[in-house]
Amino acid sequence: MRKIDTRNFSRATRTTPKEINRQIVLNLVREQQPISRADLARRMGVARGMVTPLVNELLEEGLIYEGSTGNPPRGRKPALLHVRAHDRLALAVDVRFSQTHVMLCDFSGRMIALERFATPLVPDALVAEIALRIRRMLGDHRGAGECRGIGLVVPGMVDRRTGRLVHAPTLGWRDVDLGGALAAELEMEVHTERDAIACALAQMWLGPKQGSAQDSFVYLTVSDGVGAGVVVNGAVVRGHRDAAGEFGHIPLALDGPLCSCGAHGCLEAYTSTTATVARYLGRELVSRQSYADVRETGLTVDDIVSRARSGDAAALAAVEASGRYLAVGIVAIVNALNPARIIVGGELVAAWDLISPLVHEVMEQRALTAGAAATPVIPELADEQTRLRGAAALVVAPVYAAPAIG
Ligand SMILES: [Zn+2]
Repeated sequence: MRKIDTRNFSRATRTTPKEINRQIVLNLVREQQPISRADLARRMGVARGMVTPLVNELLEEGLIYEGSTGNPPRGRKPALLHVRAHDRLALAVDVRFSQTHVMLCDFSGRMIALERFATPLVPDALVAEIALRIRRMLGDHRGAGECRGIGLVVPGMVDRRTGRLVHAPTLGWRDVDLGGALAAELEMEVHTERDAIACALAQMWLGPKQGSAQDSFVYLTVSDGVGAGVVVNGAVVRGHRDAAGEFGHIPLALDGPLCSCGAHGCLEAYTSTTATVARYLGRELVSRQSYADVRETGLTVDDIVSRARSGDAAALAAVEASGRYLAVGIVAIVNALNPARIIVGGELVAAWDLISPLVHEVMEQRALTAGAAATPVIPELADEQTRLRGAAALVVAPVYAAPAIG
């Protein structure tokens, strides 16, 4: 899904395919709302007569509505156009190793209801639990609007053609059709996406600034797993077989701790929640069992961060070590892709004030140009919301995206 470039007006001409002009109008209303028809025509650089039928079509389809009137100094008050979001609903599901969250929201990402539960470790049981929660939610909020689909965010690689979950290292699942099973169970459309890409989509489509159509950035999630959603020129980079962006598995050492992927020394094996907890406890990650043992302790990164703040030297050392490894991973991304900015989400971000100086230090040492060293690295604290907004964006974005052409 590519963003429509509403600033590239040369595309809005009489010979531009109608489908594209319609999407330009829809996106201009979305970005500039409330907006008048005259203002739309002016921004598109076309006569008002060309805009009117497109607006009428969008009104008929219920994608936009006429709301409050403008207040010009003189003359007739024009009706202003808004995107219709409040009664068009999406279901957002975020599956993580530890917990699964289910949210009902509207097309602007506004939350209506939220439920969370411990993720069952068997796919069938997870599908049944999600279906149960969704049925109850839709029942409780009947009349809030029409639900247009389910966005399912998973901690692993997804085959874009089939929607199947190819491999979720933290869950130990391979080739599971979660989306298909959920769609069959609820008779609704399900869009499945890898977590880090969903977070990038949330920035693109439901973020505070919504970025420009030519935006290039990386969303790095540092949680039970570590991964990146890469956006170049307003489009997600997926790679030849949909497996691009797995920066969590770049090797920092040829040996080193065992990673969830089965290799040793990956960025994830040094910076994941389990890696930070294991470091604090003085344990080594050498087997699947050692991962299970660390989780068994119930200790979280949040616990370790608050211990670090209250003077526990071992906790501070563990957090700083994770931060330093993370910084090396960040600078590798900067050198490889030179994005406009890197956004970091995940539990470790709670300690950003402790980590940030290390990140800057490593950037200064290892970035290859002064410009690259100055790449903004932005912590995002409300990471849980981003993943859910990303799930919602899977349902919302196709409505606003550029039509697939060529
Ligand atoms: Zn790995």
